[in-house]
Amino acid sequence: MKVLGAVVDVSNVCWSDALPPTGRHFPLLERVFLVREAWRRRYGGRAPLTLVADNSLRRQLSFEDQGRLRQLEEDTELHFAKTADPVLLALAEERGLHVISRDQFTDLRRDFPWIASTPARFLGWSTDGGTVRLEPSGIRPVSVQVVSRALEGKELKFHQRLDHRNPVHKGILGHHWRCEDETCLKAQIWPDRLHDWPRLNARGVAVCTGCSGAVRRLGPRTRPRSFVVADLRTGAEYLRFPVGEGDALEVGRGELRYGINLASAEVDAPADVNLVSRRHLMISVERTSGNPRVTVVDLESANGTTLERGKSPRPLVAGEPVTLQEKDRLVLADAVTIRLSGQQHFSDEQQQLPRLGTAGGGRTRMFLPEDLNPAGN
Ligand SMILES: [Zn+2]
Repeated sequence: MKVLGAVVDVSNVCWSDALPPTGRHFPLLERVFLVREAWRRRYGGRAPLTLVADNSLRRQLSFEDQGRLRQLEEDTELHFAKTADPVLLALAEERGLHVISRDQFTDLRRDFPWIASTPARFLGWSTDGGTVRLEPSGIRPVSVQVVSRALEGKELKFHQRLDHRNPVHKGILGHHWRCEDETCLKAQIWPDRLHDWPRLNARGVAVCTGCSGAVRRLGPRTRPRSFVVADLRTGAEYLRFPVGEGDALEVGRGELRYGINLASAEVDAPADVNLVSRRHLMISVERTSGNPRVTVVDLESANGTTLERGKSPRPLVAGEPVTLQEKDRLVLADAVTIRLSGQQHFSDEQQQLPRLGTAGGGRTRMFLPEDLNPAGN
């Protein structure tokens, strides 16, 4: 690829203790100059650098560096953004630039699919005997589940100050909560239990997002699984739905009493969705001591269901339950794909089935063993 220039993830560079003075985890503007030198050594002075920094960097730098930053702003294209990552990726996309950053940009893989398909555009650095060298940053492929988990983690952190990797916060995410303040609007709408999570206040106490008052902890939440439906031809996702622990539902086409209508007018279904049988597949989620177990059964569909696991796709035998694994993909009638989402924490709202209008949609119900045997024998 012809090098047109690069965009520099300034905060990432300033904070990198792999740049001199190595091992020092403190933001230093000097590191941007070192990277600029390395870039010019490799690509010459004519390949321009565009700098993008997080707003917060201004406050993080020393007084002296803040002065140098203002100087840098005068002779270089330097942008500031609340969050630099999406801005610098959009610039790189628009102008066909390299990206100088050691970040994997996991939570942005969905918005910028070219990250995974053109890893050579991403440059990191190493320091050898005081000399800084640019080299491929080593963008790794990540599964869609990992991307979705990264996005989920970011949302929770932003809205509720909850970190799903922290065991205390995990306890908050894993339980139902009630606000008992009679004057609180949320408590009035949801008297039995809050439909969203409490947030953590500055002292680390779980409080209601409506009134900021303390909340009462109720029982543990069940852990549903979420499923992602896409068009096989284009790969475009067009529907997501949850199945709760202990629940089962049918997946098919048209009006289903207990199911999901893949051909609903409410969604942007592919044209060949009509190859999917009315009652095509059943999905059930069972409670176990570990992660909930997901079982799928082909309900004697006309055009069949294929299970893609690793490199060996195989057809499902009608009526025979199969445990679905994290990275499996199901292909219904060579038209529609279904896979597990990586989402692990669900507010009450996210546990609702999507509204699919009068033509199908429907509800879940408790899983019954005879459901696995549609013929009734
Ligand atoms: Zn409240």
